[in-house]
Amino acid sequence: MKVPYVDLRLQYDSMRGEIDKAIQDCLSQSDFVGGKPVEEFERAFSGYLGTKHCVGCGNGSDAIELALLALEIGVGDEVIVPALSWVATANAVVNVGSTPVFCDVIEGEYTIDPAEIEKRTSPKTRAIIPVHLYGLPARMSEIMDIARSKNLLVIEDAAQALGAEINHQKVGTFGDVATFSFYPGKNLGAYGDGGAVVTSKDDLAERIRRIGNHGQLVKHSHSVVGRNSRLDSIQAAILKVKLAHLDAWNEKRLAHAEVYRSSLPHPTQHIPEGYQHAYHIFSILLDDRDRVVDRLSSQGIGHNIHYPSAIPFTDAYQHQGHKKGDFPVAEMIAAKTLSIPLFPEMTAQQIEVVVKVLTA
Ligand SMILES: *Cc1c(COP(=O)(O)O)cnc(C)c1O
Repeated sequence: MKVPYVDLRLQYDSMRGEIDKAIQDCLSQSDFVGGKPVEEFERAFSGYLGTKHCVGCGNGSDAIELALLALEIGVGDEVIVPALSWVATANAVVNVGSTPVFCDVIEGEYTIDPAEIEKRTSPKTRAIIPVHLYGLPARMSEIMDIARSKNLLVIEDAAQALGAEINHQKVGTFGDVATFSFYPGKNLGAYGDGGAVVTSKDDLAERIRRIGNHGQLVKHSHSVVGRNSRLDSIQAAILKVKLAHLDAWNEKRLAHAEVYRSSLPHPTQHIPEGYQHAYHIFSILLDDRDRVVDRLSSQGIGHNIHYPSAIPFTDAYQHQGHKKGDFPVAEMIAAKTLSIPLFPEMTAQQIEVVVKVLTA
């Protein structure tokens, strides 16, 4: 039996009527950019998280850039980011003219190490971007303590962790601002690109909205330069329908992950007390990853690597001059991590097959 890494078609099939109607409504009302579908989704999304504001935007990478721009972080500033994440986290910092300062991650949790943050702050540091990697919340209470004591801003990159919690509080509500991605494969996926920035600060939300719409809140009144990064109405309408199912899907992810945890002997992320993982990705660590990848491929089992290189060692960041051993934990995880199939619609039989092949 083949097991795909993810099967987005199954989810669409399970809610085809609802989705098709939402799309049809946008078409018949000629709602394409902004308008009611976007407003309704933004309200539902901030309500789900417990934040005051949500501003939809083009994608999760733009979301980080808009947050940085709205916080007036730019040329000459430094922003602390984890060495292990999707490159978008660091790229957003570069794209606003700032310098990403990489930090190693916690062994066992894979999220940014607060002790390392302390060591890498300088008088130029303006912000920290913790990433809730794979869906596991970063150590927000320690990070917020450091940020407060050093007067730094905190932007949560929650692209992989929609629905994750620390002591029943949703990620995305701890920092000054948080960013989400609705890339199709994320826990809440659009049928194209989409993203959102959330915050409970009124002035910040207004600046984010302004910057993402060429500096205007009112038509033809351009108070800042800005750019175009908006959420499509059709995507917003789809996302609103899907948001109502998110918790049920996340519960399924959790149930599947628990089977993996109890059946597989491989090291995986340690979950601190009170933390609720959103399981966007289930990772196992392997000393013999190449061999296991060959075995999975030959058996038709989907897999992925998130990520084969720590960001400082990608060609794009070579110029920072980091040496092997500068980020020992991130480097170890990059060398050993393997992402195995995990999506809500997986069957018990599919999970059993994955476990069998990995434990053979
Ligand atoms: C997906 C992702 C992003 C970017 O999202 P896009 O919508 O693809 O631009 C940013 N950060 C992390 C950690 C991600 O996983």
